[in-house]
Amino acid sequence: MSQKKTLSFQAEVAQLLHLVTHSLYSNKEIFLRELISNASDACDKLRFEALHNNALYEDQPNLEVRVSFDRQARTLTIADNGIGLSRDEAIENLGTIAKSGTREFVSRLTGDQKADAQLIGQFGVGFYSGFIVADRIVVESRRAGLPPDEGVRWTSAGAGDFEVESIPRPQRGTSVTLHLREDAGDYLGTWKLKSIISRYSDHISLPILMRKEEWKEGEDNKGGEMVLTDEWETVNQASALWTRARKDITAEQYQELYKQISHDHEPPLAWSHNRVEGATEYTQLLYLPSRAPFDLWNREKAAGVKLYVKRVFIMDEAEALLPSYLRFVKGVVDSSDLPLNVSRELLQESRDVKAIREGCTKRVLAMIEDLAKHEKDEAASEEDKGKFAQFHAEFGAVLKEGLGEDMANRERLAKLLRFASTQSDAVSVSFADYKARMKEGQEAIYYITADTPAAAKNSPQLEVFRKKGIEVLLMTDRVDEWALNFLHEFDGTPLQSVAKGAVDLGKLLDESEKQAAEEAAETFKPVLERLKEALKDKAQDVRVTTRLVDSPACLVVTDSGMSMQLARMLKQAGQ
Ligand code: ADP
Ligand code: MG
Repeated sequence: MSQKKTLSFQAEVAQLLHLVTHSLYSNKEIFLRELISNASDACDKLRFEALHNNALYEDQPNLEVRVSFDRQARTLTIADNGIGLSRDEAIENLGTIAKSGTREFVSRLTGDQKADAQLIGQFGVGFYSGFIVADRIVVESRRAGLPPDEGVRWTSAGAGDFEVESIPRPQRGTSVTLHLREDAGDYLGTWKLKSIISRYSDHISLPILMRKEEWKEGEDNKGGEMVLTDEWETVNQASALWTRARKDITAEQYQELYKQISHDHEPPLAWSHNRVEGATEYTQLLYLPSRAPFDLWNREKAAGVKLYVKRVFIMDEAEALLPSYLRFVKGVVDSSDLPLNVSRELLQESRDVKAIREGCTKRVLAMIEDLAKHEKDEAASEEDKGKFAQFHAEFGAVLKEGLGEDMANRERLAKLLRFASTQSDAVSVSFADYKARMKEGQEAIYYITADTPAAAKNSPQLEVFRKKGIEVLLMTDRVDEWALNFLHEFDGTPLQSVAKGAVDLGKLLDESEKQAAEEAAETFKPVLERLKEALKDKAQDVRVTTRLVDSPACLVVTDSGMSMQLARMLKQAGQ
């Protein structure tokens, strides 16, 4: 019944494996974190399925991970009693790349080892990282609920193919055995493994067990050695990090949890951990990443917050917990109120979820506001001062979506935006900075939208503003046009596009200029009439303008009209 079969890896997997084994030497030990994290995921999945089918626990209700090694055989084994894999699942999940994110990753590999290794930082390679230290991996597993003779053994040397065969396996769950490479002997020692586990996996909420070691005296008191006993001990803290008090958690532990849930190897810019009490009770641990993911602009993109209910993992990517414009935020929400069997559909309607979503949004905005405060704080470290600029460079544009999406927080969001302007090449001017520099008599915040900073700066529409020394904000993000439709004023001052309508520079013009303009309008009346007639299908109006200094003419749209930038964008989108 063994039906041994050799199958080929999906092409992307083969590519990934090649990369893993050839360029990931610098941080070898992450393989252990990845494998323990898979074991922990598998236990989460069992717990979740068992909510509807308690029999899945069989006779082993205590979920755990065991890490053991065999010096003679040079093997290291990570075993869990989680959900396990059926034969088909082993073929599917270990032989192909199911996650679109990983597939995208592989498609972006350049072949340049250094650049590719950095990319890995953004994605994580999960199970395949075992091949950094192993030249053969044997996975044995039985899925919870299947009979004991429907186990599977999956074997691969990490080249083009793998083997599967059916085996009897009484115990539920998965064991991953690594046959260590020549140069990976380090991992055959209790102390080394314990120290990696405490660095990377301490926050895992399951117990991680290892065999206890004991000192054994040598014969005749000559030397001695540590030997493994048959007793197992827990080597991590085994309580979910977010359930502990803030004061008992180190920055390193927070960062480790972040890496684990985000698959981002760069540390986060900031995090915020709170227990919220009151009508709706929950714990939130939210992180701001330091880099935008490659798929930031995909609004379908998986949300980054995991939902737990009373410490039981419920789902990844719970998009109901934050508005879409905060889709880059990573973290965990653990609710005490939601039912354990809550579904995505239920989440959308729950009043508790609405309260959680508002609470989480406020927290995230407060975190960003804190970064902005540090920017101008003399006492802050150089590193802290730079964090807001970094945040803004990575996520400022997506934050603008919030102007349209989150009315309740529109003003808070507007304060967090920064722009380049005719007086600043750096994208660092806030609306408040702008207001502080407004000219005597100036009544609006002026801005121009364009595809690029160069196009914005060279627009003829800016001529009179330049002449008058009036600052104009340059908006060149793709979302600007859309987002600004929702923001009509800032702190009592209207926002005005320089490309719309008759920009009324009224009080900013001196008497002689006004007079000249009026005279010109009179003088050119017959010409204007003829132009209007000639352009009647193409232009709504033709008028003498004060906005140009050097250029003879420019196009503008009416106040209520779509701006040209938006029109161009819609045209590009085929509308
Ligand atoms: P990820 O964990 O991000 O999904 P991995 O490469 O780490 O990606 O793992 C690939 C898949 O292999 C997992 O999604 C899971 O289906 C399966 N898998 C890996 N390890 C285990 C395990 N210990 N128990 C059950 N399934 C596992
Ligand atoms: Mg994984």
